[in-house]
Amino acid sequence: MTPTPYTDYLLTHLNDLPHYSSFTKKRLISLVGKRVIDLIRHLPTHYSTRTFLAALKASTSKEAVMVTVTIDCHQRGKPYKILAHDEHGDRLEIIYFNARAPYLQKLFPTGEKRAVSGKLEKYFTHHQMIHPDWVGSPAQAQFFGSVEPVYPLTEGLTAPTLRRIIAESLKVKSKLEEWIPPHILDDKQWPSWSEAIYTVHMPGSKLERKKIALCKERLAFDELFAHQIGLLILKSQAQKQALSPLLEPLSFYEQALQHIPFTLTNAQMRTLNEIIQDFKSGHRMIRLLQGDVGSGKTIVAFLAMAALLTAQKQSALLAPTEILARQHYSNLKPLADQIGVRIGLLIGATTLKQKTALKEALAQGEISILIGTHAILEDDVTFKDLGFVIIDEQHRFGVMQRRALFEKGATTHILIMTATPIPRTLVMSAYGDLDVSRLDEKPAHRQFVRTSSVSSNKIQDIINRLKAAINDGEKAYWVCPLIETSDTLDLAAATIRFESLKGILGTQVALIHGQMKAQDRDTIFEQFKNGAIRCLVSTTVIEVGVDVKDATIMIIEHAERFGLAQLHQLRGRVGRGEKHSSCLLIFSHPLSPIAEERLSIMKETNDGFLIAEKDLQLRGSGEVLGTKQSGQITFKNVEIGAHDHLISFAHETAQNILAQQPTPRLSEAYQQLFLLYDKPHLLPQEMTDGKGQAPITA
Ligand code: ADP
Ligand code: MG
Repeated sequence: MTPTPYTDYLLTHLNDLPHYSSFTKKRLISLVGKRVIDLIRHLPTHYSTRTFLAALKASTSKEAVMVTVTIDCHQRGKPYKILAHDEHGDRLEIIYFNARAPYLQKLFPTGEKRAVSGKLEKYFTHHQMIHPDWVGSPAQAQFFGSVEPVYPLTEGLTAPTLRRIIAESLKVKSKLEEWIPPHILDDKQWPSWSEAIYTVHMPGSKLERKKIALCKERLAFDELFAHQIGLLILKSQAQKQALSPLLEPLSFYEQALQHIPFTLTNAQMRTLNEIIQDFKSGHRMIRLLQGDVGSGKTIVAFLAMAALLTAQKQSALLAPTEILARQHYSNLKPLADQIGVRIGLLIGATTLKQKTALKEALAQGEISILIGTHAILEDDVTFKDLGFVIIDEQHRFGVMQRRALFEKGATTHILIMTATPIPRTLVMSAYGDLDVSRLDEKPAHRQFVRTSSVSSNKIQDIINRLKAAINDGEKAYWVCPLIETSDTLDLAAATIRFESLKGILGTQVALIHGQMKAQDRDTIFEQFKNGAIRCLVSTTVIEVGVDVKDATIMIIEHAERFGLAQLHQLRGRVGRGEKHSSCLLIFSHPLSPIAEERLSIMKETNDGFLIAEKDLQLRGSGEVLGTKQSGQITFKNVEIGAHDHLISFAHETAQNILAQQPTPRLSEAYQQLFLLYDKPHLLPQEMTDGKGQAPITA
């Protein structure tokens, strides 16, 4: 495909757009993503209607209106007032409580006409408008339909600004090749992609709900469809790959089983049998292992690797962070020693000398199991005979790494382990028909983590109780709020909390965060493990996989800002040993009904799958599937409830297409789909920049 100017435009980086300030662009990118396509796929959640008034006296309700007035004068003071009148001489007072005078003077030049939009109230003999939601020239006002899209926003980006930016970005119009088969378009009454996008953002003067719903449905379908095609291609590549079947006896596996210091749960046994069946089948395995926090995925991974050792296959276990890689290594090393298998650790901190020796041993096949971060894939590591790759907590891996993985290991089995409990109904949307194993049972004697919630007014009490607990030998995590999508702000909040706790706990408290050097983080983490540090203040970096058995207290600040899945993940860091554990959810007012419900679900249950189902119910329609909070594959335009039926439909459609056209990557329409919907790994190699990223034009 020769990329068209239009796809080029859609893939333009937002930083490269003229006209907007770098502050605005930064906020915009944090809200919608990097490119124009991300911006125009930032869809309104609903619409507000606005009446265009010819005259002030025509106002009847308190609905938002747009009216044109002439500015008479400014009255400085508190509040700041701007006096104006309409064509009939009726008076309007525009009121601001805390805006700066120079700014307002520029916005409302005396003697000129301005269109103002907002809620109008009759006040004795005149009308008032407090904090108009939009001000501009009468010519600009025509730009607004009387039906206005309402978008999700972020701090520092106002609704009018975002609306204007999106409207601007839609001025470049062109067609794309249609990727949906015509009979489906007919049947569903779906418009073209461009028309759908345009209608959703610019609904015109009358709110046509049905039409908009169809447009949104089409856009949701596109997203699911691109995803499903991608999954099916991966899967068919996998199935084509015949591998020599694993033969009995599985002596390393049997031996390892004997050395495990506990009894495996039924779910663990069942999963292992499923994996071993795959190994024996003579086909490549690509399997998803879902297991709640603490369900014991690591040991399953180890045993599966041990099973393949019989065939003298090497395995690699990839962790998302160095901390976790190290942790897996130190947990599995003793077991490996017992069965006489060499295991290696390769992370950023590994010295050059160690690395050289390690690579040599891997190439010779002396090391059977390698644990590390994705650096394993990028480094020039060669295995003698790599047979199996396990990805822990896969959602932390980007497209790029996944591509590297699938390419590096075309002949390897793959197990993807995730702790995010995805409700059954959604597994298909995220993973298509990849084989799925579930660890739906916790090891025996797992502690129930008692959970309570408390208002942030009580913070001093909480700190005192924490101090007492630490003096009694407990260890605690203190997680600081997630603020919008800004890592810097997250960090600022965590730093402030750390400083205040340091005043009370002294050197027993430490701060870890995502922007720290991995090595420093590791050091602090070690100290927390061995007890020199007893309270770990952090941003959400500890969310994934960390296993410190004697940590018993989890305190989460601004718990109302976290999603259920995330709260559950965080809580899963405690309750891992013999000792009784607790979780304290600190909330600040105002607490929305949904936030309140989330906190009470957390208090009621420790069951991750139940929590995932409830989460889904709570989010209900209007909420987009897979947001940041669940950490899973993200869909921007698929709404829970409204679009559920599209999940299996997209899957079937993708299947049909692939049956008729086994190489969709050769068709222009599908190339556009893959480009726009972030599936660069499905494109011919020469169309991407070699790293699996869609090209971004300058
Ligand atoms: P996750 O699924 O969250 O990765 P881990 O693999 O880290 O869980 O396991 C959590 C803890 O439970 C580990 O310390 C592990 O040794 C232990 N464990 C795993 N399986 C069992 C079992 N069947 N019985 C008792 N403890 C187990
Ligand atoms: Mg784990």
